[in-house]
Order: sequence, then C-alpha cells, then structure tokens
Amino acid sequence: MVSFINHMRNIPLVDLKVQYRNIQAEIDSSIRQVLNSTHFILGQEVDAFEKNFAKYCEVLYCVGMDNGSSALELGLRALGIKEGDEVITPVNSFIASSAAISFVGALPVWVDCNRETYNIDVSQIEGKITKRTKAIMPVHLYGQPANMDEIGKIAKKYKLFVIEDACQAHGARYKKKRVGSFGEVAAFSFYPGKNLGAFGDAGALTTNNIDIFQKTKGMRNYGQSKKYYHEYWGYNRRLDTIQAAILDVKLTYLDQWNKKRREHARIYTKLLKNTPVVTPFEDPDGEHVYHLYVIRAKRRNQLREFLLTKGIEVGIHYPIPIHFQKAYNYLKMREHFPNAEEFSKEVISLPIYPELTLQQITYICDEIKTFYS
Ligand SMILES: *Cc1c(COP(=O)(O)O)cnc(C)c1O
Repeated sequence: MVSFINHMRNIPLVDLKVQYRNIQAEIDSSIRQVLNSTHFILGQEVDAFEKNFAKYCEVLYCVGMDNGSSALELGLRALGIKEGDEVITPVNSFIASSAAISFVGALPVWVDCNRETYNIDVSQIEGKITKRTKAIMPVHLYGQPANMDEIGKIAKKYKLFVIEDACQAHGARYKKKRVGSFGEVAAFSFYPGKNLGAFGDAGALTTNNIDIFQKTKGMRNYGQSKKYYHEYWGYNRRLDTIQAAILDVKLTYLDQWNKKRREHARIYTKLLKNTPVVTPFEDPDGEHVYHLYVIRAKRRNQLREFLLTKGIEVGIHYPIPIHFQKAYNYLKMREHFPNAEEFSKEVISLPIYPELTLQQITYICDEIKTFYS
C-alpha cells in the first residue's frame, strides 16, 4: 500500500526507467553485441537501423545522425539553402527548428500557429513568401502532423522545398501516410524523451531523393566518399553504433507505444471534459502520436505549482515563443504573433508515456479538478 501511494504521488513527466525495465534483456544484449564487436563508429547496427527506420517511415532512405538538429541542418545544406535565403517556419516550436535555418546562414521567417492544432497556420504562409523564400519547414508539433496538403500545394505553386521537422512525431500519419515522407527531407530526433529515444543524443534524416541521401551521408562523415577521400565539405555528425543498436530494438515497440499514448490521451480528454482547461484538438486528417499531451489552462503557473505539491511533474512547451528568445534579439524582430504569445502563457504538458496507468491519469485529472473547484 505504501509503495502504491508513493507511486501515485510521484508521477514524472516522462518515465524512462519503467520503459527500460520492461525491455532490459533485449536492450542489454544489443549493447553487449556492440561492445564485443567494438565497431563503435558506423558499425553494421547503424546500417540496419537506417534500413528499418526508412521502411518504418515508408521512405527509401534514412541517414543516422548525432541528433535531430544535425538532421535539420544537413538537410537544409543538401538542398543548397544558404545565406540570403529565407525559410518559412512556425514561431512556436522548440528553438532547434529555427536554429537550424540560422546555422546555414538563412533567415527563419516566422508564422503564427493555428488556434486549434498549434501547428503552423497555413493561411498565413503565402503572405510571407518573398523572392528569397526557398523552403517551408513545418513542425509536427507535440506529435500532431501539420496540414501537409495545404503546405504541399503552396510549395508546388511557388516551387519551394519542404523540410519536415518530425522530431516530435515518429510514426504519426497524415492521411494514412507517415510523417517524414512528405517533404524533400525530414528530420527526426531520438533525444531520450522522444517517442523513439536513444540512451543519449541521436537523430536521423529521411528522404526519397537519392542525391540528398548521398550528400547527407557524406556530409555527416567529413564529406568522405571513401576513407580519406573528401569530395566536399563535411562534418562529424554520425550516429553512434551503440545508439543505433538500442534504437533498432526500441523501433519494434514504437507502434504499440504510440497506441498507448493515444489511448492515454483519449482518457485524459474524457476525464477533463467538464473542467475549464482546453484539451488537445485532433485534426481528423492526422494521427496524433502525443509526444506531448498539452492542455491550455487559466492560472497556469499556479496550477503547475499545485500539481507539483501533489507529486505530479508537468512541463511547459514552450514558455517563450522563439521570436522573444534573447538568442534572436539580433534580428530586431518587431512583429507579433498573438496566438503563440497567448498560448505560451497557458500551455501545460501533462505526463504522457506509454507505461502510465489509468490510476495515475485519474489521479492527475482529479487533482486538476480539485485545483479549479
Ligand atoms: C527535439 C527537437 C529537435 C531537436 O532535436 P535534438 O535531437 O535535440 O537536436 C528539433 N525540433 C523539435 C521540434 C524538437 O522537439
């Protein structure tokens, strides 16, 4: 009974321990295999995972990288995006989406978010296009696919590339197609807390374009065609063999984990129905994989403090929209993005991981009701 109460009273935002415990034997054996082979750099496990992840995303190619930001950046570089170019991207995301655009010397051109999905407001994209615009980088925020039909139409009309930031949406579908298969390039992050997470930093790029595949595969490894033959400028952005081995095991669980996340979301939404909070809207064209279950709440900061005293850890994704980040002060941005600014004060992410129990969800919802009563 005591341990049950402790369990109830300590609900982390993400519980990586329980996930590891459930698949420990398989994971440990995959790691041991790499240790015994000592092929720590670009071992066969990297190749195997890339093939399996490409298949999973329903694309032809995957290139493993050291993190998701590298996948975004090298994807942009492979498309030839550089200084003087502009890339349209949502203002409410993790900073990595815009930072990748800045890394290659281009300008992130921000668009406010849709009030229901929190994804890029596609009705505002065309107004942002200039003769310098080269690409649109939508983000499938919180695990929900952006409106890819509309983005695809605009991209076609103005001959722009599409780069998907799929770092929060492994396995999500838009009109039955997996994310990561819509743009010229897509980027995934395997940061430990993502729906598919490594035991450290890792990422991958997916594409159906063989040129981009070959270019980025070279670029992640010093531009080498073979050892010490450097065809073009490159970097060290490789995926570790150990991480690939771990990811390949976890990939076999991803669909069932995502299904659990969706079930938990359905329960949350039902239990929070008659409360003042705004629960997530699911675009009927998409299949949300709930990397995050984000509600909007009045008196958000007090609610967060209250839940913490009840042992419930919550997150805020994100407290400061990108255009207000000090790192971007140098752009001297005067434009306002009213939705993103409003939501940054209201959003709160409730614990959502596959192993969460019905009792835990019920407890969290009961405490939210207590707060507002
Ligand atoms: C996690 C994340 C990234 C960056 O991934 P890293 O692996 O941390 O480099 C990029 N974009 C979004 C939306 C993310 O959530």
